[in-house]
Amino acid sequence: MSRAGAALLGAAIQLIIVVPGDGPAAAPEPPPPSVAAVSPEDVFQRPLGSWSPHCLGFGSQWRYCNGVALRACASGVVWLHTGVDIVASVGEPVSAAGDGVIAGYLTDPQFRGGVLILHTTTFGTVITQYWHVWLRPGFKVGSGVRRGQAFADVADMGARTHLHFAVFNGGFESHAWNGALPPGACSGFPAFPYRFVDPNAFLEAHQAPVRLPRGVRY
Ligand SMILES: [Zn+2]
Repeated sequence: MSRAGAALLGAAIQLIIVVPGDGPAAAPEPPPPSVAAVSPEDVFQRPLGSWSPHCLGFGSQWRYCNGVALRACASGVVWLHTGVDIVASVGEPVSAAGDGVIAGYLTDPQFRGGVLILHTTTFGTVITQYWHVWLRPGFKVGSGVRRGQAFADVADMGARTHLHFAVFNGGFESHAWNGALPPGACSGFPAFPYRFVDPNAFLEAHQAPVRLPRGVRY
């Protein structure tokens, strides 16, 4: 058996014999780093340099910070927020969460600009959604973007200025634009969360791999 094979077997045996709940014991050795390299197209990062939650999180009722609902079904139930709202300042650069292509740009008097970036990953097509931003000059639908590349700036919404960021687990379609969806099907819209996923959990699960100390090979 090769030395690497023996090391892997050793790691497997160690995993088998570590029994949790045996009282205070020395912490088990951390598992060896994954042998499979992470593909660059599967790595995502936060689109802003700082990441402090604004008023609404994923699945929050869609309300202004003062509690006024933005949209409700005829039954009175309030729509649910598809993304996370993040504290931001006017003009702050917004970076692509991952390598991709700008798949849509909409502007709206109330919400300012919205951008969709389509990402082709090894686990399928994912869209990241950015609202309340202005696309930078030189970027348009069809432009390629790299992870971390600033493609937009936070728009001025007065006291409500913030970035809305959402992750849509699927290809381009009209509902990928939605900032909120009803809790049950209403007004022709699918029920929350439809194909939206928790953006913070998604970013956490697709971070860049931890850089190994110098000289470590596997
Ligand atoms: Zn929002």
